Amino acid sequence: MKYVDEFRNGSLAKRLAATIVREADTARTYHVMEFCGGHTHAIFRYGVQDLMPANVRFVHGPGCPVCVLPIGRIDNAIELAERHGAIVCSYGDMMRVPASERKSLIKAKAAGADIRMVYSIRDAMKIARETPDREVVFFAIGFETTTPPTAVALRDAKAQGLKNFSVFCNHVLTPAAIQHILQSPDVRELGTVAIDGFLGPSHVSSVIGSRPYEYFAEEFQRPVVIAGFEPLDVMQAMLMVIRQLNEGRHEVENEYVRVVTREGNLKAQALVAEVFELRPSFEWRGLGEVPYSALRTKDAFADFDAEKRFAIETKKVRDAKSCECPSILRGAKKPTDCKLFGTVCTPENPIGSCMVSSEGACAAYWSYGRFRQGAPRRAVPAQKEAAE
Ligand code: SF4
Repeated sequence: MKYVDEFRNGSLAKRLAATIVREADTARTYHVMEFCGGHTHAIFRYGVQDLMPANVRFVHGPGCPVCVLPIGRIDNAIELAERHGAIVCSYGDMMRVPASERKSLIKAKAAGADIRMVYSIRDAMKIARETPDREVVFFAIGFETTTPPTAVALRDAKAQGLKNFSVFCNHVLTPAAIQHILQSPDVRELGTVAIDGFLGPSHVSSVIGSRPYEYFAEEFQRPVVIAGFEPLDVMQAMLMVIRQLNEGRHEVENEYVRVVTREGNLKAQALVAEVFELRPSFEWRGLGEVPYSALRTKDAFADFDAEKRFAIETKKVRDAKSCECPSILRGAKKPTDCKLFGTVCTPENPIGSCMVSSEGACAAYWSYGRFRQGAPRRAVPAQKEAAE
């Protein structure tokens, strides 16, 4: 398949791996955060980490929209169905994420709440048209990639006068999260998370372009290389980060040139700007309150904002006591550092969001089984690695 097969070519992967081994300076360690869960899954699915020399390490980032949504927001979605009687429409990934009191969307559905799995916001709009006597709420999650479809749908809902339809908006923003991580005590003061550079998001960057990363590449002196989701994309981007670090550069480079430009998709950006505005602050699981890191609807679309329509208030809720998702999402720990991993917590019985989502780090470790190989580098706890 064009643009897929050639980026999974085994002999090219071996040549790239040999180049990385040759160019990586054995006198130092390279800690590179892959922001996206999509990258994490490519790394584990194709065994990319095993092709890297021992001093080149991936640090898993918070780029999974299901994983980073705090429990309080899932409670809100359940409340919309249970207390307000709304039909709540959600992507499948969200259905099994644990909420408060051992609940989840799917358990609430089993108990009688009208919660439906949909593939897109258009499905939710169709349900609203077909059930005019019921309130229908779309549980909108996602980074900059999924925001433009929500913006278009809200514009259409307004034009169509779809009065029983609204959106519970949880769209979050990548650059703010990366900046927050770089400013965190883990990175700046404690040194418990070492990050020398970033593999930048691919799909997100197809919308926002590579320009938004330029500020913190310069300000925090960390190279950023936008990388596609195929294994050779990840390896080539890793080589580009290593070369920047070797040369003392900290620039934004784009490996994913077949899709991403510096300016991004201007039409999509204009649509988002028409419908949404920045929230002053938003809670992320693991990162806490992150300034200007999420979107809400503008006043012109207030009629379609479920938070305003149902006067929703979000409470702060602590994660399950032994679940390490917050530390994993900050890059401070790895799934295998969690004592529940693969024992109490599995995809069939998830305790935290990182085991549920198809982009979660715990799901990646479990699904591809590479933790079972007992490679020596995995025997070193992530915290200790990062402190080196
Ligand atoms: S293995 Fe389960 S309990 Fe442990 S961090 Fe991952 S999701 Fe949380």
